[in-house]
Amino acid sequence: MKIAILSRNKKLYSTQRLVEAGEEHGHEVHVFDTLKCYMDIASHRPSIHYKGEKLGGFEAVIPRIGASITFYGAAVLRQFEMMGVYPLNESVGITRSRDKLRSLQILARAGVGLPLTGFAHSTDDTQALINVVNGAPLVVKLLQGTQGKGVVLAETYQAAESLIDAFRNLDANFLVQEFIKEAGGSDIRCFVIGDRVIAAMLRQAKAGEFRSNLHRGGTASRIKLTPEERSTAVRAASKMGLNVAGVDILRSNHGPVVLEVNSSPGLEGIEHATGLNVAGKIYEFIEKNAKPGKTRTRGTG
Ligand code: ADP
Ligand code: MG
Repeated sequence: MKIAILSRNKKLYSTQRLVEAGEEHGHEVHVFDTLKCYMDIASHRPSIHYKGEKLGGFEAVIPRIGASITFYGAAVLRQFEMMGVYPLNESVGITRSRDKLRSLQILARAGVGLPLTGFAHSTDDTQALINVVNGAPLVVKLLQGTQGKGVVLAETYQAAESLIDAFRNLDANFLVQEFIKEAGGSDIRCFVIGDRVIAAMLRQAKAGEFRSNLHRGGTASRIKLTPEERSTAVRAASKMGLNVAGVDILRSNHGPVVLEVNSSPGLEGIEHATGLNVAGKIYEFIEKNAKPGKTRTRGTG
């Protein structure tokens, strides 16, 4: 098959592995810098151009779209979809997953386990907001944050109140969330492809830190999931409309709760922690599913 990878950087581990595994599977793989693709959107025959050339003949596209370029990246992917190219993840699913609030609303409606969560922009009723999550300790999260940057723990009621007031004064959008203390600074990354979790790792925060992001010095190891954790992860990905997703789960006293669903999950951490060929499994999925006309939304829903 002729397959396009949308990625800002050929040298990234995930991109390199996708090229390598694609070639191992006998495919012709091309990497395009998402921001350098340009489009003819108004004509009857939608097209994509790259470095002066019109792209054609692609059967599948693998989007690796970073959070900072979601807007343009989704437009490029949508263009591929309108040309009938099979997307590993659809633009609609990616856009959904990038909005933390929208994601939580979709998951809640589907009955997926979540931490108690309140959302506010400029409520004057800080107390009521704190009560939504049963008081302190609680976690406050900026909606735009990634890699643990906008995530703060307020250990006492007073700390929570001043933190919320401060964010409110900055006009920031934020979530207030029950602190899952029993997770002990760890979370579980479930790598979902189709209707299966094909790999999972436990990420443990470094000492004195509750955020387990690998970017923040967390360490990863292989883990065996319970059937409930598996089904939660698969359900979360499917409700978001994603074929491939990194679903992050905490082990709480009230069962597995989903923190977030990542639509361009990294391969480095998970392949190293598990020793599995995750990139190869992505191609197995594409080979089974990429058929003309298989895009459900045509990018416009
Ligand atoms: P980001 O998108 O910045 O990664 P997350 O919501 O994933 O934000 O939070 C970062 C990390 O903080 C998580 O991986 C987890 O270890 C920890 N964390 C987040 N929310 C909670 C919570 N409600 N209770 C306990 N730990 C949490
Ligand atoms: Mg996270």
